[in-house]
Amino acid sequence: MRLTFAGAAGTVTGSCFFLETKGTKLLVDCGMFQGLPELEAKNTEPFPFDPAEVDWLIITHGHLDHLGLVPRLVREGFQGRGICTVPTRDIAQVMLMDAARIQEEEDGALYTVEDALDALDRISLLVEYGEEVELGKGVKAKFHDAGHILGAAFVEIQAEGKTLVFSGDLGNRGKPLVEDPSYPPKADVLVLESTYGDRTHPPLEDSVEELRRVIVETLEHGGNVVIPSFALERTQEVLYILFRLWKERKIPRTKIFLDSPLAVQATRIFERYTERFPEPARKLFRKKEDPFDFELLEYTLTKAASKKIAEEEGVIIIAGSGMCTGGRVLYHLRANLPRPESSIVFVGYQAEGTLGRAILEGAPVVEILGSMVPVRAGIWRIEGLSAHADQGILVDWALHADPRQIFLVHGEPHALGALATRLASHGYSVHIPAWHETVEL
Ligand SMILES: [Zn+2]
Repeated sequence: MRLTFAGAAGTVTGSCFFLETKGTKLLVDCGMFQGLPELEAKNTEPFPFDPAEVDWLIITHGHLDHLGLVPRLVREGFQGRGICTVPTRDIAQVMLMDAARIQEEEDGALYTVEDALDALDRISLLVEYGEEVELGKGVKAKFHDAGHILGAAFVEIQAEGKTLVFSGDLGNRGKPLVEDPSYPPKADVLVLESTYGDRTHPPLEDSVEELRRVIVETLEHGGNVVIPSFALERTQEVLYILFRLWKERKIPRTKIFLDSPLAVQATRIFERYTERFPEPARKLFRKKEDPFDFELLEYTLTKAASKKIAEEEGVIIIAGSGMCTGGRVLYHLRANLPRPESSIVFVGYQAEGTLGRAILEGAPVVEILGSMVPVRAGIWRIEGLSAHADQGILVDWALHADPRQIFLVHGEPHALGALATRLASHGYSVHIPAWHETVEL
């Protein structure tokens, strides 16, 4: 059988792996490239396979860098079925429709709303964790809890007498709204994400304390706290943490704006799956306490409501996009970056080439919506809220799979290199594939 690395090879985004067995051809993810212009250019490159010959599309989770090119795949002839977990299907609906609307506003759109609807029609086989699906003669797939975001899975594939494990994105441990990642079965081949392959995250409680301190100090000085946040999972976690801090009287009473229509839609999905949360959060929701709807929290759906936030002082603003590549957060950054009393708090990964990364790396001036904006606000990175496993978790997880061969994907070069060195020191055969490389398994 053959495996082709159609994306997330030597970079974090664009996850897409093409597996050809004797009778069945399948894709694991079909994600969009995001970040640097030369990466985004890859979104228009031909796929290294014919979409019409792909029988199955396995979607590990709802992030755009894992499913954002599915409408293009369908537009270019994919006739097979998409498989994912039940929550991932709901998330895909929101994410693909939003992506398609953004595409339609751009020159050289990758796809249209119509294409996204066709894509959603194809994603029709819904599974639960632990369920096994027959994909063809001797080819089976099983989804397991990846602990990354709601519905996220890693996938075990049995084919030609071998076990392959695709990690998808693996979660951090001790997160409030997702369980810890499950361990993989013993595998022959492991395709492993490496986002934080070179880092160790601080414990979540340290990060919550850091966030609390930044909020208290910023509000004391009359500044605003701007939290660029991914619509999925991170936003809901931040709301959960703010709710807890407020209930425990650890932060002052202040307005909290959720200024992202996409995040609001995502939060509505989370409200349907509170029974899947870890016990403490599940209990809280059962008591009818609602961290997604409490008195400090205001959802700003319209543009007018969003603009009015500029009149406020001493508030918390959660807005997307998470890497500041677009969306309403740009307006809040333009207003708050020049203010020394305000704080910008990054709670998620900032890819190379994004505005978020530039701010985080200390750029003194950045260009936002056509104007040059000086950076005088406090800039914070709170790492323990990450949705990704760190090096220790990744290595521990790989040891459980104990594979003959490891392919490292979904990482920037230094992270891939550091993780490869660690895994090799445990005696594993590790390869970092190039974009479009094909290997025989
Ligand atoms: Zn992800």
